[in-house]
Amino acid sequence: MTHVTLAGFPRIGLKRELKRALESFWAGAIAANELLDTARLLRTRHWQLARDAGADSVPCNDFSLYDHVLDTAVLFDVIPDRYRELHETDRLAGYFAMARGHKRNGIDLHALEMTKWFDTNYHYLVPELHSGQRFRLVGHKPLDEFREARAAGFDARPVLPGPVTFLLLSKTTDGSDRLALLDALLPAYAELLETLAAAGAPWVQLDEPCLATDLDDTARHALRHAYRVLANGQRPKLLLANYFGPLGANLGVLKNLPVDGVHADLVRGANELDALLDTLPANATLSAGVVDGRNVWRSRPDQVLPRLQRAQSRLGTGHLWLAPSCSLLHVPIDLTLETALDRGLRASLSFARQKIEELRVYADALDGSAEAEAALEAQGALLVRRAQAPGVVNEAVRRRLHELTPQAALRRSGYATRVQAQRKARPLPLLPTTTIGSFPQTPELRKARADHRAGKLDDTAYDKVIASEIEHCIRYQEQAGLDVLVHGEAERNDMVEYFGEQLEGYAFTRHGWVQSYGSRCVKPPLIYGDVAREKPITVRWSTYAQSLTRKPVKGMLTGPVTMLQWSFVRDDIPRETVCRQIALALRDEVHDLEAAGIHVIQIDEPAFREGLPLRRADWQTCLAWAVECFRISAGGVRDTTEIHSHMCYSEFNDIIEAVAAMDADVISIECSRSRMELLDAFVRFRYPNGIGPGVYDIHSPRVPAAAEITELLDKAMQVLQPEQLWVNPDCGLKTRGWKEVKPSLEAMVEAARQMRARHGVVSA
Ligand code: GLN
Ligand code: ZN
Repeated sequence: MTHVTLAGFPRIGLKRELKRALESFWAGAIAANELLDTARLLRTRHWQLARDAGADSVPCNDFSLYDHVLDTAVLFDVIPDRYRELHETDRLAGYFAMARGHKRNGIDLHALEMTKWFDTNYHYLVPELHSGQRFRLVGHKPLDEFREARAAGFDARPVLPGPVTFLLLSKTTDGSDRLALLDALLPAYAELLETLAAAGAPWVQLDEPCLATDLDDTARHALRHAYRVLANGQRPKLLLANYFGPLGANLGVLKNLPVDGVHADLVRGANELDALLDTLPANATLSAGVVDGRNVWRSRPDQVLPRLQRAQSRLGTGHLWLAPSCSLLHVPIDLTLETALDRGLRASLSFARQKIEELRVYADALDGSAEAEAALEAQGALLVRRAQAPGVVNEAVRRRLHELTPQAALRRSGYATRVQAQRKARPLPLLPTTTIGSFPQTPELRKARADHRAGKLDDTAYDKVIASEIEHCIRYQEQAGLDVLVHGEAERNDMVEYFGEQLEGYAFTRHGWVQSYGSRCVKPPLIYGDVAREKPITVRWSTYAQSLTRKPVKGMLTGPVTMLQWSFVRDDIPRETVCRQIALALRDEVHDLEAAGIHVIQIDEPAFREGLPLRRADWQTCLAWAVECFRISAGGVRDTTEIHSHMCYSEFNDIIEAVAAMDADVISIECSRSRMELLDAFVRFRYPNGIGPGVYDIHSPRVPAAAEITELLDKAMQVLQPEQLWVNPDCGLKTRGWKEVKPSLEAMVEAARQMRARHGVVSA
């Protein structure tokens, strides 16, 4: 029988039970054992769910209370000194201190750095290493969870990051070479393998998704070395797992590698199947990741089945496993809860549970089940029908895209001409002050929105709440002395959802939660059809805000790349086509705003960088269309209309040319946490347009002093011209309270005043 398995399962729970338990525990409302009970319950429930859906074996140790990279660090005693004492007195408190910081009884520990897990929207904690680092197997989580699974009757396979990926995901605090620690780390892994073998684990899965990235010879050598060493000892069979892309130039690492199985991503790496079959170590099992673990659409049997048949004929049934392409961590758990979705749309979707069911059907078909073959045929037919369903193809949108010329991505004049026209139309002081868009989402606002959604507050009453909040926001900004105002985004729940809800081609789930980090989850919208805008989205509230003041009010839109990146995107047309459709819808919005008297328009692209492919060689193509989409959305407006954009990260160096190519009149960027280090990029590359490097960190409740801000602005002026500089916070203020926002913005305005005075300009 063809074996069905999976590389990992979501941890958060169908109803976000883990989130609730974690947050109650942190708030002191439940005890540790209650939290751990919930965790155990979820693990068992998920194993059961996977088995009921058709999995023959299940992963274990894929569960985590916070993050699996942190778990691995703790397992091998990679605990930075600052947490050590707390960790020794209270393991759980130490663990969460590393995850999210700890402030209690005079102890103040900041958390480990958090960063994106490959190209997903999941964030992991970055282990801290140093030269001479020692590793010891001190934990037993993989063993405990293996025993737990086996006691409950499951064929379980412990899963953890492999040694090379673990080191590459870590950072060294002393700048030493991470991979130099490999030989120190391997004995700890070997000991773990030995323990698991002794406990009766037949297989262990070591995840090495670094194989999907650009590796140099040293890293490839490290991989070969690691698995040769690990193969020697007492150990279960080893499944080496790669996902998030093809192996590409790293394929050779597998040659004669002493592992017993390889998991490969045959969705993103579909073209690599034959090369892979040629390279697999002799007698190795292939875990064929044929169903997309990164997306929510049903697989296409006409593509998947022939691949599997090829693999089966080469490997024989005993050596072929079927699996999703990667851990199912990145998709919601169960589609059957989504009873409010359109039925046709629902039939084309597949969440974690449905993906395992799909795999079961493929496996049965390979084993000769006529029923399974018929089911696959039906799935194929359904997807063909789906392609013709209403809303999937919008002829007008297709025609418009077809007729789109390169001119659409052009402004009427170059920046030098535009900036003069803009300054003439809207005189602003040197170092103009502004904010990123949102103001505090107060409890009252959230309640009004919830009541409105629940039908307890009618449209008129809700609109009144929003209007009065906007007015309050405008009055405050005038009084604080800001130069370019915003309406404050009171009407928006979420910057993608708000637009998605008003665009055709988008749908929303009720329970489609995906873990972003720790207890934080997001519910990405689905883009299932051609994207079109029926009517203006933001004009009403923007013009209302502008009607209240003589100062310019910035219109505020979410950019095409971010709208794409933070959604589950249809897989029947290229991503860049979807992005262009969104860009066109936004372009119409920009034009409507301009016609309605909004002359400063910000198109946010916080996700611009994170959409980049894992391999550098693919960057140029991707950046080219991303930049073009941004420019399409901003293109065609008058020279006097000032286009802003905002990006919130600080690794700027390697994309600065692309950012310049976006040709926004002004960009605001995150900067203050790195103390303007990112300005290094501007030493090398002379950024030509207006720029607002964030001058204080909105992620922290701390109120900055004016003197700190002038210091940062001084730094910025070393590499940027004073005429280019804008003064703004790091990001939107929606997560902050007014209590912190007011003194912070006042310090910012004061800092700008002082700078102007120093540069011989008197502020208005
Ligand atoms: N305009 C948005 C805001 O201010 C931008 C948010 C973001 O960068 N993520 O909230
Ligand atoms: Zn931001």
